[in-house]
Amino acid sequence: MARPVRFNINTKSTADWGINQASMPEGHMGEGFFATSFDKVVGLARKNSIWPLPFATSCCGIEFMATMASTYDLGRFGAERLGFTPRQCDLLMVMGTIAKKMGPVVRQVYLQMAEPRWVIAVGACASSGGIFDSYSVLQGIDQVVPVDVYVPGCPPRPEAIIDGVLRIQDLIHNEPLRRRNGPQYKALMDSYGIE
Ligand code: SF4
Repeated sequence: MARPVRFNINTKSTADWGINQASMPEGHMGEGFFATSFDKVVGLARKNSIWPLPFATSCCGIEFMATMASTYDLGRFGAERLGFTPRQCDLLMVMGTIAKKMGPVVRQVYLQMAEPRWVIAVGACASSGGIFDSYSVLQGIDQVVPVDVYVPGCPPRPEAIIDGVLRIQDLIHNEPLRRRNGPQYKALMDSYGIE
């Protein structure tokens, strides 16, 4: 016999659980309508549906695992869908020591991601090489790809990683739709040799 299916067994609303819903963008509201600009709607959708690609090479990656787990639960911020296929992801999170031999790999992963894409350098190693001021370690991933947000710490606590994601969400929410067609963005890409 088929088991009975019960829908909405939890009668509490999300507000009762203390879960915040995405706030409305600026706009004009009237009876039966809400009007806002197109870029605000796109920004709202993008910032609440980030697909991160975790590129974890060492200890900071372990801290990221804690960030994804139930206590911190990065999924609360619309970022629970981790992907390991660059073409599906829009947020590259580099966590750990990046050897110079690994630099081209980070760059290749970045190039395989479709625009719009963003990058977070998580921890001292990804941001600056950290304590490894040596011949073999890349002194910051911004030598090979443009970085949007740097998260300090060795390792950063999960709260700091979440703060980095919130900073990225701010950037995404407020990014003009035409930014990536503009001369400044083109100059940034040119400086990295990216067409
Ligand atoms: S910043 Fe510290 S914790 Fe993170 S990868 Fe480097 S050495 Fe490890």
